[in-house]
Amino acid sequence: MREYAIIGGGIGGCSIAALLNAKGHDVVLIEKEPSLGGCASTFSHGGNRYNAGATTISGYHEGGIVRRVFETVGITPDVISTDPAITIIQGDKKCVRYRDLERFIVEVEAFYPHPKHREFWTLVHTLGVAFYSIEGHYYSNRSGFMKIRSLLSLYPILKRFWRYLFGNARDFIIRFYGTVTPEYLDFLDAQILIVAQAKSEKVNFFTAALSLGYTFNETHYPLGGMGAVCTSLTSNIPEILTECEVTAITKDTNIYTLSTSKGTIRCKNLIMGTSHYESSQWFSDPSIKQYYQKYEKLNNHQSAFVLYMTIKTPTQYHHHYQLISDEVLPHTLSKSVFVSFSDPSDSFMAPAGYYRVTASIHTDTRFWTVLSKTQYHDQKKALQNFLQQWICDKLGVQNEEITESFAATPKTFGRYIHRTQLGGNALTLANFLPRLPANDTPIKGLYQVGDTAYAAQGWPGVVMGAFNCMRMINGKH
Ligand SMILES: Cc1cc2nc3c(=O)[nH]c(=O)nc-3n(C[C@H](O)[C@H](O)[C@H](O)COP(=O)(O)OP(=O)(O)OC[C@H]3O[C@@H](n4cnc5c(N)ncnc54)[C@H](O)[C@@H]3O)c2cc1C
Repeated sequence: MREYAIIGGGIGGCSIAALLNAKGHDVVLIEKEPSLGGCASTFSHGGNRYNAGATTISGYHEGGIVRRVFETVGITPDVISTDPAITIIQGDKKCVRYRDLERFIVEVEAFYPHPKHREFWTLVHTLGVAFYSIEGHYYSNRSGFMKIRSLLSLYPILKRFWRYLFGNARDFIIRFYGTVTPEYLDFLDAQILIVAQAKSEKVNFFTAALSLGYTFNETHYPLGGMGAVCTSLTSNIPEILTECEVTAITKDTNIYTLSTSKGTIRCKNLIMGTSHYESSQWFSDPSIKQYYQKYEKLNNHQSAFVLYMTIKTPTQYHHHYQLISDEVLPHTLSKSVFVSFSDPSDSFMAPAGYYRVTASIHTDTRFWTVLSKTQYHDQKKALQNFLQQWICDKLGVQNEEITESFAATPKTFGRYIHRTQLGGNALTLANFLPRLPANDTPIKGLYQVGDTAYAAQGWPGVVMGAFNCMRMINGKH
């Protein structure tokens, strides 16, 4: 009988497993794929290594929440600092997101001249610093009483930032600046979308500011691939079962029994590191099924189309680019694509002279699942070719420098990591606390981590959820 079984070795599952293990608890981490990471994994294709989705680590700066998880478990990941965080290309503009506020203000004023930039970006910067300095808040879903109590713990945030919490960010931005060009709004929206998973018209300004401001903190590049960061985070855990798929879960009084491809596992506590939108399928207990199904209405059906390329070139590239178009790209939900290059020194990812590239764009799962086999194949090829050519044109890559190119659709992610939705809960006005699922549940011994639960997506959001889960487990609330 295990004390804790954790299903899913994404950032959420790895973080909570590592935290519990560091506290001396008995844990088993179960992952369906051969390696850990999920959306943040690294895989091999024809011997070439690629990051599946996530390529940037934010929150690993001094005092950051991601650094805190590694410090708590006593592990230092193999990462290098990235500055600039992103180079944003829109038309003929090439605006570099330097970490330094003053340096970035000079940059943004050069490309999108406006007298209010200093005031605006200083506000964005200040809100980020202020938010991360507030501690002591948590979020619980164990009962109505606990939910209200936990919402009260968020009062310092409400008190300090209330004027940015209500109303949409787009209106706030337009009011703030007086006049803004559609081009500049696209520039902001592209950056808000990759963090908040929604554009400025759907989120409040507080969320928009945190999304726009993450690059003012130090960001990091994972040497050896993002999957290696998850592997190192969990390296002290005695038992990790990979290539082990959980196919059914039953609950008998206070014991969970997991049927897996490697046999049966029984545990007192179960932590789901899988998506809320997929989890109900494994449970037979009607009340647990119902619990997960209740949240399925939050599913926005957003996912990703990802293009993977190997490029052999003497040209020097930054780690990350965001390319912004005038129009939403075909078969997608976005005007922008996020393109990440491996570091030239990262010989584990690519030999000298080669880059591995992961380029992702938001799409709707339903754009892909309703198609016949032929239509699906044609649409996939068309978008792959379109993105490849666009990236080549914008970044000066020659077609003959591409030695490998292939793509993943929402169906691919569904097949490998059981996710029909990616990006987790978008932090929209309609979808904000207290509607979000928390990391504890009303069901005894059942917890949840990952980007479909509090506190949403990416390294900082998912790790914040793992710490919150730890707090719920320890009863410190
Ligand atoms: C294209 C893309 C780019 C991104 N870029 C960034 C970025 O640069 N930086 C950043 O911080 N974030 C980024 N994100 C977001 C980030 O990757 C995710 O928010 C985060 O990785 C989600 O972690 P998770 O723990 O919720 O779950 P997941 O990554 O979904 O992991 C869930 C795991 O559960 C496993 N699993 C599922 N079902 C079973 C089962 N039945 N049995 C056993 N195991 C199972 C899956 O195989 C998977 O490994 C990106 C996301 C995408 C899609």
